Amino acid sequence: MFTTIKLYEQNSELRRFTARVLDCREAENGWAVILNRTAFFPEGGGQGGDRGTLGEARVLDTQLREGELLHLTDSPQTPGKAVTGELDWDLRFRRMQDHSGEHIVSGLVYEKYGYNNVGFHLGDGEVTLDFSGELTAEQLEEIEVLANRAVTADLPVRAWYPSPAELRRISYRSKLDLTENVRLVQIPGIDTCACCAPHVKRTGEIGIIKILDFMRHRGGVRVHILCGMDALEDYGARYRATKELSGLLSAKQLETPEAVRRLLEELEKTKYALSQERQRSALEKAEALKYQAGNLCLFYPELDMRALRELVNAAKEKCSGVCAAFTGTEGDWRFILGSTGVDLQVASRELLEGIRGRGGGSPEMLQGSAAATRAEIEAWFEAHPYGKKKTRRKETDSHGDS
Ligand SMILES: [Zn+2]
Repeated sequence: MFTTIKLYEQNSELRRFTARVLDCREAENGWAVILNRTAFFPEGGGQGGDRGTLGEARVLDTQLREGELLHLTDSPQTPGKAVTGELDWDLRFRRMQDHSGEHIVSGLVYEKYGYNNVGFHLGDGEVTLDFSGELTAEQLEEIEVLANRAVTADLPVRAWYPSPAELRRISYRSKLDLTENVRLVQIPGIDTCACCAPHVKRTGEIGIIKILDFMRHRGGVRVHILCGMDALEDYGARYRATKELSGLLSAKQLETPEAVRRLLEELEKTKYALSQERQRSALEKAEALKYQAGNLCLFYPELDMRALRELVNAAKEKCSGVCAAFTGTEGDWRFILGSTGVDLQVASRELLEGIRGRGGGSPEMLQGSAAATRAEIEAWFEAHPYGKKKTRRKETDSHGDS
């Protein structure tokens, strides 16, 4: 069992250091290196393990396992040798901004509403906080303002291990009921919380705290936030999206929602007009049909179901058998069947089997979907000439072939 001095606890902004290699062993996707001291923070408290380099080796992750602090690398190190470690500082600094920002938001929510932070996740470009009680949009907006005031006040962030006696006197947020080795992170007037992770030294370094979204979650709320560089990057992405929308809509950026609303209304009107037009053309098509003995099998992929129903209602008068109308695409048809002479409820089983369909309806009308091809459907209706011989409604289960 090797122990490592945690340099990140004394100086969270140390990004380059030298250390001695204590041990190197094979691990899942490379090697696990243990140093006598390190600035690499191992995953914990909701924050991911640090990445960076150890000499020539890349540190892909840092983990604490059974009390040992492991640098998971892509190449081995020689025990006894000195090595220079360097953090992926951009990543670590973003995480510190997000994490310190999270403490401020959680501290304010706890102070104002008494809700605990019962879940914290800090992923790449995503930070979520789960609170034990529900918050409204207005309450979160107020928290956001207060949080950013704490940022601009540039308060000192203190992290330390209090003595057991001191710890007893301090009230702090914590998920654990430990009395020894508790590390506290304190932002004066805002928050005191037990936490093992590195934080910014002053709240001004957080830059900005943005509450993005929230939803009900397990009797409380899950809140999405972004801080600092992550928030700036997110702002950039949203700005570009809005700018593009603005160009596409020829509307001012902040007026794009109104422009989209108008567009959707127009679309709705156009759809309605088109549907009316289709119904009219469906009726025209039906009018143009000549009466024939037997079935009528019609394919109109451009018609919607409403127009198709209009069509069948009119066209069923133009045949003695089944008037079958289909819309959709090959093998994925939707249909309406109508008849004045054939009881479709009685014939439905045979009909549906014939066109590989599913559906239901009344004796006069059957509606559903069919998986057969157009050629198969046409051939089937050709081979089953309902209404061609003496077929009365009650006898349609034998469809007149006898
Ligand atoms: Zn924390």
